[in-house]
Amino acid sequence: MPHPASSPPQSPRSVAIVGAGIVGMSAAHFLSRAGWQVTVYDAGAPASGATGSADGAVSIASKKPGPLMTLAVAAVRFYEHLTETGILGDEYLPRSTFVVASVEEDVGVLERHASHLEASGVSIRLLKGAALTGAIGAAAPSAIAAVEVQGEGHAVGYRVVERLRRLGGFPIRRNCRVSGFNFSKGRIVGVVTEDGVEPTDAVLLATGLGSASFLSGLGPIRPRKGQLIVTDRAGADAPSFPGPLMSCRYLVSKGSQAAPGVTESRSLGLVIDPLRTGQFLIGGSREDRDDRETTDADVVATLLRDAVELAPSLAQLRVIRVFAGLRAATSDGLPIVGRVGGAENLWIATGFEGDGICLGPLMGRLCQQMICGEPVAHDISSLDAARFGLSLATAA
Ligand SMILES: Cc1cc2nc3c(=O)[nH]c(=O)nc-3n(C[C@H](O)[C@H](O)[C@H](O)COP(=O)(O)OP(=O)(O)OC[C@H]3O[C@@H](n4cnc5c(N)ncnc54)[C@H](O)[C@@H]3O)c2cc1C
Repeated sequence: MPHPASSPPQSPRSVAIVGAGIVGMSAAHFLSRAGWQVTVYDAGAPASGATGSADGAVSIASKKPGPLMTLAVAAVRFYEHLTETGILGDEYLPRSTFVVASVEEDVGVLERHASHLEASGVSIRLLKGAALTGAIGAAAPSAIAAVEVQGEGHAVGYRVVERLRRLGGFPIRRNCRVSGFNFSKGRIVGVVTEDGVEPTDAVLLATGLGSASFLSGLGPIRPRKGQLIVTDRAGADAPSFPGPLMSCRYLVSKGSQAAPGVTESRSLGLVIDPLRTGQFLIGGSREDRDDRETTDADVVATLLRDAVELAPSLAQLRVIRVFAGLRAATSDGLPIVGRVGGAENLWIATGFEGDGICLGPLMGRLCQQMICGEPVAHDISSLDAARFGLSLATAA
């Protein structure tokens, strides 16, 4: 059901979108289609932030029950819609995710999460014994139970951004850091970069971790590092992976389900993602320790050991690359989307942590609806910036 717009309908004017990640580029696409004159600014290149260093799970399986799970269901349907209408080409790959419990105490976590997924209208299949080994040939004999989460998919973040860039309709200013704004009568009237000031009628901040420098009161946003491993291609005779395998511990490390004794600042939840290329992406850590995109042998070794335990055939593969990225995490695990105090023509969409590839296109569409003063297609009141008392700092 559409939700009321918070501002009156706006006729198309100019809008500055700061940040060319998946969220900013999606908003740019929809605003441009709505007739707005869009300019995108990025301090680096498109997808040079978290969007370029992510796995691409367009997944409901891992979401925390509540608004995030509800929005993820809508986001997956939106990917399907963008595929049907040709906007995304073949960038979205539908598939199931398999959440696997390998120790008895995780079975309760798995069953609890499965009931939340069912209550959100997601089709699932509980697999045990022969049904489990039949469905997931690659799973180790130690796997006790699994839940197949049906009707979700995968999309590579930087490829989605590239697709939207090619569809075009708006300029992208690369290597162009926005350092602040000019104001008149409570409104932003200009975007300040080192090249000068450019006039604008509206601004969307889609700056990921860079959002902090624009805002006062943004204590709740922080970098959360993730380390990922890429393998070589598996041989044709390797056991089958019908989709990504996600350890039940992943739900716990992401905060989607609680489990006793997991409170560390570095947690390792495992996802083994079979890529279209035949390679595997193995991840990922969630580390609140630093903001450097660095990898370390300790985390990589632990992820690999866990991966081989869950799917022994991976031991035959070569590791060809390890890398790390920084997620923009909030203290309550929800993104921040909506109006920001301090200027009446300023919107923000940030704090997507590990969910922005999934949610990005839908959030871009909802930002377009908000900025155009149209009814917003989904309830995003729980994402409101007001919950953190955010407002625009006078200069970034
Ligand atoms: C290891 C890892 C694995 C992940 N796996 C998944 C997954 O499987 N599924 C999923 O849904 N999500 C995943 N994510 C999360 C996802 O990548 C992010 O949530 C998403 O990319 C956020 O997109 P964004 O557009 O908000 O931010 P970003 O992609 O970070 O883009 C922000 C942009 O703003 C620019 N910028 C910042 N400040 C300024 C400024 N002052 N002026 C101009 N430009 C500026 C930056 O250069 C950057 O390009 C993962 C993330 C990581 C790190």
